[in-house]
Amino acid sequence: MSSSSASAPSLRDLEHHDAFLERHIGPNDAEIAHMLETIGQPSLDAMTDAIVPASIRAAAPLDLPAPIDEQEALAKIRAIAQKNTVFRSFIGQGYHGTHTPNVILRNILENPAWYTAYTPYQAEISQGRMEALINFQTMVADLTAMDIANASLLDEGTAAAEAMTLAKRSGKSKSNVFFVSERVHPQTLEVLRTRADGLDIELRVGPDSEAAQAESFGVLLQYPDTFGQVHDHAALAEAVHARGALVAVAADLLALTLIKAPGEWGADIVIGNSQRFGVPFGFGGPHAAFLACRDAFKRSMPGRLIGVSVDAEGNPAYRLTLQTREQHIRREKATSNICTAQVLLAVMAGMYAVYHGPEGLTRIARRTHRLAAILAGALGEAGVTVGPDFFDTLHVLDVDADAIHARARDAGFNLRTIDSTSLGIGLDETTTRADVIALADLFGATIDDIDALDTATADALPAGLRRTSEFLQHPVFNTHHSEHELLRYMRALADKDLAMDRTMIPLGSCTMKLNATAEMIPVTWPEFGNIHPLAPAEQTAGYRELIEGLEAMLVECTGYDAVSLQPNSGAQGEFAGLLAIRAWHASRDEAHRDVCLIPESAHGTNPASAQMVGMRVVVVKCDRDGNVDIDDLRAQAEKHAEKLAALMVTYPSTHGVFEEAIVEICEIVHRYGGQVYTDGANMNALVGVAKPGKWGSDVSHLNLHKTFCIPHGGGGPGVGPCAVKSHLAPFLPSAYPLLPPAGEGARRADEGDAPAQRVGMVSAASYGSASILPISWMYITLMGAAGLRRATQVALLNANYVAKRLAPHFETLYTGRNGLVAHECILDLRPIKDATGISAEDVAKRLIDFGFHAPTLSFPVAGTLMVEPTESESLHELDRFVDAMIQIRDEIRAVEDGRLEREDNPLRNAPHTATMVTGSEWAHAYPRELAAFPLETLKRQKYWPPVARVDNVHGDKNIMCSCIPIEAFKDDTETA
Ligand SMILES: *Cc1c(COP(=O)(O)O)cnc(C)c1O
Repeated sequence: MSSSSASAPSLRDLEHHDAFLERHIGPNDAEIAHMLETIGQPSLDAMTDAIVPASIRAAAPLDLPAPIDEQEALAKIRAIAQKNTVFRSFIGQGYHGTHTPNVILRNILENPAWYTAYTPYQAEISQGRMEALINFQTMVADLTAMDIANASLLDEGTAAAEAMTLAKRSGKSKSNVFFVSERVHPQTLEVLRTRADGLDIELRVGPDSEAAQAESFGVLLQYPDTFGQVHDHAALAEAVHARGALVAVAADLLALTLIKAPGEWGADIVIGNSQRFGVPFGFGGPHAAFLACRDAFKRSMPGRLIGVSVDAEGNPAYRLTLQTREQHIRREKATSNICTAQVLLAVMAGMYAVYHGPEGLTRIARRTHRLAAILAGALGEAGVTVGPDFFDTLHVLDVDADAIHARARDAGFNLRTIDSTSLGIGLDETTTRADVIALADLFGATIDDIDALDTATADALPAGLRRTSEFLQHPVFNTHHSEHELLRYMRALADKDLAMDRTMIPLGSCTMKLNATAEMIPVTWPEFGNIHPLAPAEQTAGYRELIEGLEAMLVECTGYDAVSLQPNSGAQGEFAGLLAIRAWHASRDEAHRDVCLIPESAHGTNPASAQMVGMRVVVVKCDRDGNVDIDDLRAQAEKHAEKLAALMVTYPSTHGVFEEAIVEICEIVHRYGGQVYTDGANMNALVGVAKPGKWGSDVSHLNLHKTFCIPHGGGGPGVGPCAVKSHLAPFLPSAYPLLPPAGEGARRADEGDAPAQRVGMVSAASYGSASILPISWMYITLMGAAGLRRATQVALLNANYVAKRLAPHFETLYTGRNGLVAHECILDLRPIKDATGISAEDVAKRLIDFGFHAPTLSFPVAGTLMVEPTESESLHELDRFVDAMIQIRDEIRAVEDGRLEREDNPLRNAPHTATMVTGSEWAHAYPRELAAFPLETLKRQKYWPPVARVDNVHGDKNIMCSCIPIEAFKDDTETA
């Protein structure tokens, strides 16, 4: 061997150093060696063996293609994208073309300050995104003329289902019938069917005219209806109310700028999709749906709600309000199982309204309406029949639909398929004069002078339904209309917040890992964005290749046999998985099995989802080490043997431990006739190391927005695939009837996949949030089998390193074999609270003064902090966090030995705002410098929280969920 070959790296070595793996994984080889030494482990593999029970360890590496670099992967996915054909889509049916304002596209959708943020549980570092969300809520409440709106739901179909259950909870009627107009969007009806099933609600579908007569607890109407017609429902609403039932309305936000708001003619609940406010089709999602209702129902509303409270200084401050409705607290009695929703898309839609303002939105709506009226006028002149009273969607009747569709395809247009003699044409903001001329031409109608036709054609909106009330009068919707103004407004909001572009977010159970830019890039390609969810199959070959490819990758990673990508959140995946279990039992004449065992440490969505499929939740105890108490499990399974449907278990447990007995747990459940549902939220501790589908579990959901790199978006979007063993594969959710099922490749594992057995749709779109699937596809493609395994191992290492370094200062509540934790660790603050009065919350808030987002607070154990660093955090960042925690522990010690006061100390008063520490008066018993700069390094880089600690109790007592009136801030400056 020559000396030069020993020192000079080979071509292969040089290439290896561009490996994506080394960008994704925080610590380098030397750092990994140092950390292994710190935790006393000789190697990553030895550490893995010491943590993961031998009974579940995978023998063979994942069977995935070798990793490729960023350029190659982007080229590969570009080629897939190009197999989609982008037509001009006038299909409508709840999805309309829109121009995403470029300033929003780049500075929100493509900006990590927004897309890497977490759900705003820590109010003080989330003021910016909560202001954006309260804009969304105000926008929805104003346009629908309802009292209150939530901060988004998953899609219009599930929002309709939530409206149904809200009406059931809140109405006075004892009926179990929900009446649905036959003129709601078909996909909404599909989702309603699925959801009504588990809840003993009978759906009755019929013409609007029957809604008044039908004995029901509520009705659902569509406004304008799915064929585009705008009806006056005032009398109907009155009649429904007279029977003691509630009126829910699915409405189109853009139409509401021109037509009377549902709140003005008797609606009790209004739902819909805000997609056309600047969010691309994306083959069905993600988009932000909304739910608005009367004030009387606010305490039983589903989903997240941003409210206004005050901070410790008496200033207005936003926070998540009425959280006592949510699953984390109410479990199976929660108002819904919604956890991840659609925050990023709600922010986009809200910003679209901020940008355009009431006049701009009205102009867009009017222009769209004029184009529709002109097209209808031209068709009328040519003798083609068009339904009356429309906003933007024409119902074209008595035509040879096949011939028109064929001509439309030749012109590059998609129209809505209805039947052989009628079709639909939905226009939108992107429609041009040329489009209208070309559309008319399809029917043999010529438009020579579009302006003359404009003058000659009357509006088609019913005269009695014109909107006369004002909306969006708050200054926020009337200020930021120039691009500079909007740019700076969005930047100002982003600057108030801490997202992963500034700091690690060590949230246990949430896996806030790197969302690499290369993974994000394909998301905004038009070949993925501009595909309507009901585009014909021949235009979506690229999507189907992507979907099948990703399904196969996930099958390999989990050891299951089939995957459905339809669920658009983890909780939706739970619902889909439990539906599959229920349908499987029913197929074996065991429909009576309805008991779902759930360990007390489970995430709140588990019991909430079990309730949705009509299962009874029976809680299983945990032992002192945080493991499922096997004796209690066996006793409960035996006691409920006749009725046992399922066990829902999280693995590794929410206590951060690989339970040794997991195989035995599965055996016990199976022995008594139940199925094992493994909550896959913690897959980041398993990929490439162990497979739930191989150790006895029957079904899992995954959270692609945790393990597989889809960013959290401030609380959504997400994708919650449902993965099952072959016997459950026939019971995965259906695709929309008009589309051939994709992903048969992955499902072929099951020979008897009879579509008739499938459960209904759980989301409004066949492939859920399809347009963000490229992120996970890119991640797996870039990492390859060895990379994924290494990511898991470093996730385990990072957690153990943090636990080890913090051990002299904070006690880790639960550990597994060899004193090691899994990919997260729970720090027990309860002894500290008892001794000093300093709570876990005080520590969480004090971390803000250090520029950190707090770990998960009080889940799964009250009074604790759960830290999950993930593999993406470097040793430098881990040490920065550990140093902050150690400094905080020193402050707690100072309270213990009297160097700091018990009541007036930097922990109890955290976080400290700039106004607090620079005020002329400083009345605290500790120095200002300690308040703001507890570590020297903070003098170089400092995050200033925009508000002091937010008062939770005040917020829940004084519910206020729309934009803060400007006067509130004026008062404030006067008193300051
Ligand atoms: C995040 C999480 C869920 C719910 O997932 P969503 O996507 O938020 O609906 C369920 N279980 C566990 C353990 C989780 O961490």
